[in-house]
Amino acid sequence: MPITRRTFTDYLFCPMMVYLRAKRLVKPNANRSNALLIHSLRQRVFMELLDHEHRLVCSLPSNAPRKLITGGYVSEFSELLARLLSQNNAVLENAGVSNGDVYNSLFSEFVPEIDKRVSQIHSFMAKSKASGEELWRSLTPKVYHYFNASLSDLGMELTVDKAEVYDDSVRTTVVKKPSAPNKGVWPSDLLELGACSLAAEARFQRPAKKGFVCYGTVLREVSINQFIREKTVKTCREISALIAGDIKPRRAQNRNKCLNCRLVEACRGVPV
Ligand code: SF4
Repeated sequence: MPITRRTFTDYLFCPMMVYLRAKRLVKPNANRSNALLIHSLRQRVFMELLDHEHRLVCSLPSNAPRKLITGGYVSEFSELLARLLSQNNAVLENAGVSNGDVYNSLFSEFVPEIDKRVSQIHSFMAKSKASGEELWRSLTPKVYHYFNASLSDLGMELTVDKAEVYDDSVRTTVVKKPSAPNKGVWPSDLLELGACSLAAEARFQRPAKKGFVCYGTVLREVSINQFIREKTVKTCREISALIAGDIKPRRAQNRNKCLNCRLVEACRGVPV
């Protein structure tokens, strides 16, 4: 079983959850299948948009106004999304998910992304005075959404939500549900960001100096320092040993965790 982003969350909550999944003692969950279906649509639309971005940026006239750039992104994104949804109509219907709800929810996620990307392109054009292929070649940062990355020596296979690639560094963003802590980020999110940063460094061959965790409209910046790197690698090694070994971890000491645990049924079936 590869270590994914969810493995970190499970491991910090209760190592038994990782054990149950590694030993395939958990039944698939129908709600989870729907979430995965929507996530895969989100992934495809953002990935395809990246292919279209080259054409879109090259088609902009010099000193294009913000409104024109925004219009280009909105129409590319909405066309792509509508096409993917109509191709998957039968699957969505089968899963009891409304085509319109998915459209609205993915579109609203995209609005802040459009805003940020349009600002980057608009100010880059004003500074560089470039257009066409020259603008695309020099445009910084290049942005990659929802790509798969692996680090085989750590047994990790991750989907990175977003990476902004600059000449001298890469910045990753981890997108979470909109429930931010009062300050900083949740411990499992810190590990996810550490893992995504290491994977993005390997893929883009440049250092990650900082990264972000996005909780809805709240964006928390994190410095990717030595502490985070070491903590991520150490946790990966611990999880790998748990997955590969036959030693059952202890059940959670805090029984309140079990009350909210999604795997409680599978856990009851494991002899103490
Ligand atoms: S039911 Fe309790 S002990 Fe079992 S996996 Fe969940 S949190 Fe851990």
